[in-house]
Amino acid sequence: MYRNTSTPADDDGCGWFHLSPPRHARPAHSGRTKARWVVLGAGFTGLAAARQLALKFPQDEIVLIEGQQVGYGASGRNSGFAIDLPHDIGAPDYIGDPATARMNLKLNHFAQSMIRTWVADYSIDCQLRSDGKYQAAVEDKGLAVLQAYRSGLDKLGQPYEMIDARDLPEHLGTSFYRQALYTPGTMLLQPAALVRGLADNLPANVSLYENTVITRIEQGDKITLLHADGEFVADELLLCNNAFASHFGFLPGRLLPVFTYASMTRPLTEEEQARLGGKQAWGIIPADPFGTTLRRTPDQRLLVRNSFSFNASGQAQQRFLDRAARQHRTSFDRRFPMLANTPFDYTWGGSMCMSRNHLSYFGSLAPNVYAALCCNGLGITRGTATGTLLANWLAGEQDELTAFLLSSPGPNRNPPEPLLSLGVNLNLNWGQRRAGLEA
Ligand SMILES: Cc1cc2nc3c(=O)[nH]c(=O)nc-3n(C[C@H](O)[C@H](O)[C@H](O)COP(=O)(O)OP(=O)(O)OC[C@H]3O[C@@H](n4cnc5c(N)ncnc54)[C@H](O)[C@@H]3O)c2cc1C
Repeated sequence: MYRNTSTPADDDGCGWFHLSPPRHARPAHSGRTKARWVVLGAGFTGLAAARQLALKFPQDEIVLIEGQQVGYGASGRNSGFAIDLPHDIGAPDYIGDPATARMNLKLNHFAQSMIRTWVADYSIDCQLRSDGKYQAAVEDKGLAVLQAYRSGLDKLGQPYEMIDARDLPEHLGTSFYRQALYTPGTMLLQPAALVRGLADNLPANVSLYENTVITRIEQGDKITLLHADGEFVADELLLCNNAFASHFGFLPGRLLPVFTYASMTRPLTEEEQARLGGKQAWGIIPADPFGTTLRRTPDQRLLVRNSFSFNASGQAQQRFLDRAARQHRTSFDRRFPMLANTPFDYTWGGSMCMSRNHLSYFGSLAPNVYAALCCNGLGITRGTATGTLLANWLAGEQDELTAFLLSSPGPNRNPPEPLLSLGVNLNLNWGQRRAGLEA
């Protein structure tokens, strides 16, 4: 039996969620439902897995369970970069081993093409754009990262453009950065609108239950998932609930719920847009992984994302949110003095599932229990790809991408509590302090 020790509880401040086209959440579950397949977690990974299972097993009923509303969890809270390039923050050139990097590139392209197709086929209004991304630096060590990443991209044969301080305001408005490496393949999107749109366009043999929090999983001949008002009885379970899988006792101590935070302004007035200058929409990721991500959205809001905390429960905590909001103000005003004090309409946080060795989990965790977990902060593409491939694998299909995922040793083990929290917090605080002006 796997009893849950913590359940999802995100804050209510997510701008993407509140600004999404309206939809009616599917009703919560009650009573007893039997199905061959149950998918737990309706973020990018679970939505992709449920959809693909439905296509591979058209005669079967697939149940998809979400503890909150779709889009309220991390998949609707992120910065909306569907990144094509390998982004190994553990490797000095962000690329690492070229053979592994090539497979990750293929995985990401696979996911991007699915996202593009779904958005077009279902007319999902999620501001999807092929704008690419700027990786920008202001500190000396950030500049060194750009040089290293550039050599990594040469190694992979991927296109880029190096843009110097003088030319950057033409692109971004701000003259804060000293250099940026532009890569054209990243897609930018409104993540909550996308996952909510996907939830409303699932195949007919998928039953989605929202606001249904699973509190216990029992394993016998069948797998029973219990919640306050009933239970699901399944033959096979797919865990797509990110770090919360460890709260059921799976991969104990290996999945780290590291929170990061974002704030979003009101729409800029035309006069403010003119004061800012630069292109109409863009996305910047920091050279230093502890630095600041920025978006200028197509509806002319600016988004700032930085700050980290280790919330071992996986739940939001107000004091970290307040601390992040203060940092967002500083980071924003530093970069946009021409717009200083533009108010934020929204501030929120969300959980990334990280592992110490930056590896994900894909495969079988126990008899009839399968999982695609731990996207290490890159779940838009990785979750979409791994959810789909998990379903393909369960349908007996194997290709080079599945073989690649199955061959991964997965997230490594960490020391037990309280050493774990102590170590992760030290690491996060040290990283954020060292980021200097990149934060
Ligand atoms: C501020 C921020 C910025 C980010 N920026 C980016 C970015 O630009 N690009 C990118 O690719 N990634 C980004 N990420 C990471 C990305 O959001 C995650 O990698 C992605 O959401 C993982 O998707 P997932 O479907 O695997 O898991 P999740 O989105 O975490 O979905 C799992 C779902 O399971 C549900 N669940 C958990 N336990 C239970 C239970 N017991 N019962 C029922 N339901 C349960 C949760 O409510 C949740 O909705 C960012 C994250 C944050 C927080």
